[in-house]
Amino acid sequence: MTNRRAAITIVQRLRAEGFCALLAGGCVRDMLLGRRPKDYDVATDARPEQVMALFPRTLKVGAQFGVVIVLARCAQVEVATFRSETGYEDGRHPDRVAFTDAASDAARRDFTINGMFYDPLEEKVIDYVDGQADLKRRIVRTIGDPDERFGEDYLRMLRAIRFSTQLDFAIEPQTFAAIGRNAQHINRISGERIAMELEAMLVHPNRGAGASMLRASGLTERIFPALPDEQAQQAPAVLELLRRRVDFALALAAFFSGCPAETALRLCHVLKLSRQRTGHLRFLLTHRGRLLDHEMALASLKKLLAEPCFWDLYELERATQKAAGNARALAALAKLHRRVQALRGVDVKPRPLLNGHDLIRLGARPGPQVGQLAEELYIAQLEDRLDSRQQAEQWAADWLQRHHLPE
Ligand code: ATP
Ligand code: MG
Repeated sequence: MTNRRAAITIVQRLRAEGFCALLAGGCVRDMLLGRRPKDYDVATDARPEQVMALFPRTLKVGAQFGVVIVLARCAQVEVATFRSETGYEDGRHPDRVAFTDAASDAARRDFTINGMFYDPLEEKVIDYVDGQADLKRRIVRTIGDPDERFGEDYLRMLRAIRFSTQLDFAIEPQTFAAIGRNAQHINRISGERIAMELEAMLVHPNRGAGASMLRASGLTERIFPALPDEQAQQAPAVLELLRRRVDFALALAAFFSGCPAETALRLCHVLKLSRQRTGHLRFLLTHRGRLLDHEMALASLKKLLAEPCFWDLYELERATQKAAGNARALAALAKLHRRVQALRGVDVKPRPLLNGHDLIRLGARPGPQVGQLAEELYIAQLEDRLDSRQQAEQWAADWLQRHHLPE
């Protein structure tokens, strides 16, 4: 069963029991735009315990906020009790929630385009916040006073830019001005949540616009305080020139393309990226420029090609140089590309012809000498200067003779 089918079945069941139940939020927005919703959420006046009593398999995720997950065959649906929220002393979470009706539930949502309901049985949109008009105008606008709404939850500032990026909508001017006034408070939001919004924004093909808004709103300098503005300024052009589908590490590398690697990595600490992601980002940032050396030794090229992120590095370089209008660098990159193509079908990471034990057997001293010999031998192998064990043994013997050290 799809999530959509499951959500509609849940609405039917709740309604049969006499409750009010509607599809709510992002799925209504996406349906009205003719986009495929990521997931369908249900909102109802049934209390969490009533929802749990009605469906055999449920998960209590945020029952105190009125949210229950109903598990259907192969699908799960978030069922939330209509609620209003108050408090928000910390700029992140409401202090109290109260169960209410659909109209008040609409009012606690962030943007008008996210504040609509849909009745799938009557096939009717229920819109208390003028969301349909803003969908037509293609704008992101807070429900109610933007300073107040951002003051309740500062993450909404990033969400505004994220939705504007993903939908290619403008941010309504008052809403955008309020982001500027509140940008300084973004640091109250956890790095992980900031990272999730940045990721959604920067992996989207419209990521250049996202980065421009982020900078113009003042959020870039608040999230990444040591990033000089002239470096932030070049990010949108590079981001825009990347291929359509990119992952977050490549997008971040483009975002920081004007910035020294160490600075960028230090600034990214706040995002609490996984070790793997940080490794990917570090690789991209520290190897910038290397692919412009199109005459690099064959062994170096093969080693780079053996890296899992080689093509991301290539893409980053291409976009960076294109954004800078550097024709010479682009020509060098094209030459390197031809060399790479000529290596198609070649094993760029062959097994070493001899291993450490072999080298010790041939007389290498255990320790750094073996390491150095192994490395030089492997380079000779990658350079196609050796192609049999026998040749490798001869090469190693010659090397050992040249490097003979007195005991
Ligand atoms: P997506 O398609 O990216 O999931 P969405 O609109 O469904 O977008 P969610 O984060 O899944 O966004 O949230 C679902 C709904 O809950 C939103 O449409 C909005 O009505 C409400 N909502 C979510 N986060 C907030 C928030 N921080 N403040 C106010 N309302 C919110
Ligand atoms: Mg959603």
